[in-house]
Amino acid sequence: MIREIVHYDAPVLRAKGREVGEITPKIHALIDDLFDTMREARGVGLASQQIGEAIQVAVIDITGIKERPSKMWIAGKPVDPEAFMPLVLINPVLKMTKTKVTSHEGCLSFPGLSLDIPRAQRVNVKTRTLDGGTFEFDAGGLLGRAVLHEVDHLHGKLFIDHISAAERRLIREDLEYIKRGEPIPTEEDEE
Ligand SMILES: [Zn+2]
Repeated sequence: MIREIVHYDAPVLRAKGREVGEITPKIHALIDDLFDTMREARGVGLASQQIGEAIQVAVIDITGIKERPSKMWIAGKPVDPEAFMPLVLINPVLKMTKTKVTSHEGCLSFPGLSLDIPRAQRVNVKTRTLDGGTFEFDAGGLLGRAVLHEVDHLHGKLFIDHISAAERRLIREDLEYIKRGEPIPTEEDEE
């Protein structure tokens, strides 16, 4: 079922997700809804908070995005990330490299806003799987960025938390538009 995407600054976006215990039919339904909603919005990732539920479940699918390559390793060996899509993250635990790379990022909870965000170059991910096991991989490129962005959501953290105070001042008006549910005017509108 396609759900409504929660926009900034709804309080649920700041809520830390509770950990998933047993994988119940409710969790399966939540995951289905996340996929339906993400695909309809043409996103590469969506966290539960973004459909109003503070729980540690997020989905990612970078399939078909060639202009921003993804990298993935399993047990240290490079693999084709598309062979492992779509991904479900349940209670994910991350270990990040200190080296960071900056690239542009959007968020379905901030329509129209694109920001340059520094993120760890590579991230190690341990996640629970739907069959009760665990899955461990390393991610870089777009996939690494998507994992870091979505897992931030699961802890109530947002991409605007990664920019400087000076940059925050520059987007203050944009955030006001988003809060009011209005589109951010483009430069053409202002002329
Ligand atoms: Zn987001």
